[in-house]
Amino acid sequence: MKLTKSQREELKNKYGGHCAYCGDELGDKWHADHIEAVKRDIIHVGGGKLVSGEMTRPHLDTIENMNPACIPCNSNKSSMSLKSWRSLLTHYRDVQLLRDSTHARHLHRFGLIEIKSEPVVFFFEKYEVTA
Ligand SMILES: [Zn+2]
Repeated sequence: MKLTKSQREELKNKYGGHCAYCGDELGDKWHADHIEAVKRDIIHVGGGKLVSGEMTRPHLDTIENMNPACIPCNSNKSSMSLKSWRSLLTHYRDVQLLRDSTHARHLHRFGLIEIKSEPVVFFFEKYEVTA
């Protein structure tokens, strides 16, 4: 759904102007993320490019099902559920980071980065309205 200017403003302030997931402050460029993905048919066009088509779950296209998200979070979450995305983030940390990044391995060996073992908690899960 296309949000009105005031709906967009309201959504942006849902968590005090922060990304619902990582907690970064949202600037002018941010996305209205569908918490439960509306999913779109993928249309293959020339050159292997993928374009989103019609929503396959249009009943989820409501403002109640939206969270304000920074662009990196929205892109990474894509159409995953929160449960799947949380598992993926945990996998990045527990499996992929030190396996796939030589730079990270060096920094880790030198004690310059620390890998925390806490569970992945999204900003909105710990957000409390204090006003
Ligand atoms: Zn974010």
